[in-house]
Amino acid sequence: MKQGVIIKVSGPLVVADNMSDSKMFDVVKVSDEGLIGEIIELHGDKAFIQVYEETGGIGPGDPVYPTSMPLSVELGPGLITSIYDGIQRPLSVIRDQVGDYITRGVVAEPLDRSKVWDFTATAKEGDEVETGDILGEIKETVAVVHRVIVPHHVKGKVKKLKSGQYKIDDTVCEIEAKDGIKKITMVQKWPVRVPRPYKRKLRPENLLITGQRVVDAFFPLAKGGTACVPGPFGSGKTVIQHQLAKWADAEIIVYIGCGERGNEMTDVLLEFPHLKDPKSGATLINRTVLIANTSNMPVAAREASVYTGITIAEYFRDMGYSVAVMADSTSRWAEAMREISGRLEEMPGEEGYPAYLGTRIAEFYERSGRVSVLCSGNREGTLSTIGAVSPPGGDLSDPVVQATLRVVKVFWSLEDKLAFQRHFPAISWLNSYSLYHENLEESLRNEVAPDIVETRQEAMKILQEEAELAEIVKLVGVDSLSPADRITLETARSLREDFLHQNAFHEVDSYCSSKKMNTMLKLILKLHHLSIDALNGGVPFEELAKIKVKEDIARSKYIPEDQSVQLEKIAKSAESEIEVLKRMYAQKDVVLGF
Ligand code: ADP
Repeated sequence: MKQGVIIKVSGPLVVADNMSDSKMFDVVKVSDEGLIGEIIELHGDKAFIQVYEETGGIGPGDPVYPTSMPLSVELGPGLITSIYDGIQRPLSVIRDQVGDYITRGVVAEPLDRSKVWDFTATAKEGDEVETGDILGEIKETVAVVHRVIVPHHVKGKVKKLKSGQYKIDDTVCEIEAKDGIKKITMVQKWPVRVPRPYKRKLRPENLLITGQRVVDAFFPLAKGGTACVPGPFGSGKTVIQHQLAKWADAEIIVYIGCGERGNEMTDVLLEFPHLKDPKSGATLINRTVLIANTSNMPVAAREASVYTGITIAEYFRDMGYSVAVMADSTSRWAEAMREISGRLEEMPGEEGYPAYLGTRIAEFYERSGRVSVLCSGNREGTLSTIGAVSPPGGDLSDPVVQATLRVVKVFWSLEDKLAFQRHFPAISWLNSYSLYHENLEESLRNEVAPDIVETRQEAMKILQEEAELAEIVKLVGVDSLSPADRITLETARSLREDFLHQNAFHEVDSYCSSKKMNTMLKLILKLHHLSIDALNGGVPFEELAKIKVKEDIARSKYIPEDQSVQLEKIAKSAESEIEVLKRMYAQKDVVLGF
């Protein structure tokens, strides 16, 4: 194939001539250093190439070598626990090769070719199989069983299939197809910009438990759902994404650190090997794939990193797993798009972003879902996507936020006002929403509590009433409120401070089970009902405002999961303390002759 010649270099964009043999989205090697690039526009002989490495020192006259391959990822055992850059180069392998700084043109295999895996065949010789059918399994980590599935466009009869010790490139199975024998290995390639196909989309109706009370109780996400977390700098987007990566009850986590500061990825890298999954007991890294494309890494690779991440996620979805992808931050991805588009001299849309920004964002989120995967039987997989958006100044009219809100179904609105007050997570309970309430009703009732929907509605009503009452208080002062309204304010305060506030850095509070979440919510509402009842029985508001049990409720979030009896004790003390007050005031009434 003929070799191209560079005619212009503009940052991460290289223009080359003599490229008519290539196709759109083909990968090319730029210059003799072999920098990886991708053709993003073709005009006759001229190719516009997005280069994933620094282009300093590269200039007109340097060669471009076509590969005739689209930008692809390798899929197979060894993905879990790996840390990749935006184009799936394994960072730990690169460090061993060239040290702490990635040098240009460095080549490293995404998956370890020399590692021997223990493959157990689950299909049998003689079986008729098609795309997606499971041929065998490998225990990839203590938490993940990797299923080897029939690759795309392969259908036929299993001729040879044996359990044993194999490397990823060894043939584990031979399939007799119409057009000859197909040798199947444990590794597949897939072009990142093409969504992996499935049979059909299904309605997402199972709750993705995140262990974060404000999310699980008020703005829940479905397995296979989409969510976005926009917020200004410092409002807690990264902490939320980390919390979800740690605690969400997905079987596989793909975490894409896209253009964020390097130290934030370091936190993940340091913590995940130690934190234990509350369900499996294995450390969290055993179900995680990390894509790190930090702010000091080349800008174009950011653009690719979200596709690399979501393709890996789809691959595990196709095995039948529930997968969750966190992308932090999609604004950095959009900025990379803007930069490239600017250099291509495309007509800019809003705020200089390309006109196709909305389409790209929609296409990305549309790769999520609960699906019936390709296979001869019935198998389901889910892919949930949570994207952080960091608009300048937290401005929600930002084009990236707006384009994202048009497609996602859950909006967790982070507010700097709450972050200033150190109310974390700073998710506004008044502005956020989840459009999954209806879909998830059954799942919530089964998995959390039969009456959780009503409990949540009541709590939300109190928080909304608080916002209305706050307006009145601002105008005429708190003393103008009725005692019942003042109880409402007290309960709302407790809901905010004792329930919604959750400290990500506290050993116990970092994760809250659905059961504990429900008990805590009920406890606060119970005190509310008891207080209103006592008020009606003659107990003055001032007495109710200072009851001791409130301190216990405030501390209830720090009670470990295995000591939940303590929560029941607090409920009992609330009853008895209020009972004492009621009796006292009932006697007063008698004494005074009312
Ligand atoms: P962003 O990514 O929006 O810039 P971060 O996620 O880095 O913001 O959060 C900024 C700071 O806010 C954190 O360093 C932490 O101190 C605090 N913070 C955020 N969320 C929580 C939380 N749930 N619990 C405790 N502190 C939090």
